Amino acid sequence: QSIHKDLEEKIARFHQREDAILYASCFDANAGIFEALLTPEDAVLSDELNHASIIDGIRLCKANKYRYKHMDMKDLEAKLQDAQKHRLRLVATDGAFSMDGDIAPLREICQLAEKYNALVFIDECHATGFLGPNGRGTDELLGVMDKVTIINSTLGKALGGAAGGYTTGPKPLIDLLRQRSRPYLFSNSLPPAVVGSASKALDLLMESNAIAQSMAAKTQRFRSKMTAAGFTISGKDHPICPVMLGDARLAAVMAEDMLNRGIYVIGFSYPVVPKGKARIRVQISAVHSDEDIDRCVEAFTEVGRKHGALP
Ligand code: PLP
Repeated sequence: QSIHKDLEEKIARFHQREDAILYASCFDANAGIFEALLTPEDAVLSDELNHASIIDGIRLCKANKYRYKHMDMKDLEAKLQDAQKHRLRLVATDGAFSMDGDIAPLREICQLAEKYNALVFIDECHATGFLGPNGRGTDELLGVMDKVTIINSTLGKALGGAAGGYTTGPKPLIDLLRQRSRPYLFSNSLPPAVVGSASKALDLLMESNAIAQSMAAKTQRFRSKMTAAGFTISGKDHPICPVMLGDARLAAVMAEDMLNRGIYVIGFSYPVVPKGKARIRVQISAVHSDEDIDRCVEAFTEVGRKHGALP
């Protein structure tokens, strides 16, 4: 419908790209792109901790596959050198990684891509709508909006619609996806109500950067107060704040005690994260007030002392 076309145009404008194509989810966008773009003569270089949907999308294509160590630029460079024998190279990475709240070194990745004539693809599900001064994402945060070729992202996380995904980038690429991307061709498009809510969310973000700025301030408030209280928070400047505890049982009982105090945070342990790296993942939202954040830090401090996570 025309509302779908309008939303595609709005997404492209938001990301300052030429065109965009909608999918029912970002999982579908990731399933469709690699197979449509890459042939057996090409190569894809993927961060070892990329999201499952990127891994599955890459499995569906016949390109030569390289997996580089998580955010390790030396390893990426070695793999890019090896991949020079192929026709085309595509580096694929999450812009922000959800388990540790860490952000891909996109400046370095783009420099290497330039040096070795590669394209850069980022999955912005954990960045769209809140990272960067205007919430454009990791490429805006790190000043490489003109260097990243392809963005896939979701309408279902920060944009609040609970469903929907897209690819945005150069027009010829989007034209190709409309002809060749299987989840686009062989699946229903988004329900109109979801299109309406995503469109409104983008309007709010494009009218003013107040939401993105307030997310950054709240994230900073939580991270610095928790660190001062003696906790270790993984990652940097990301509203996903993993409170690192190590022990799986400690993470579970502390999360339960936090819930008893009315604070909904989730304990993660093996096999979702590596052994010995159990944590409670806190997600800061734009609707939290400063008082909410302070109450959360106080509750963590109390619960942490009770269970011996703090002295
Ligand atoms: N990519 C990343 C990095 C994600 O975290 C997710 C969702 O968890 C997806 C893709 C899939 O997004 P969607 O829920 O729109 O299918």
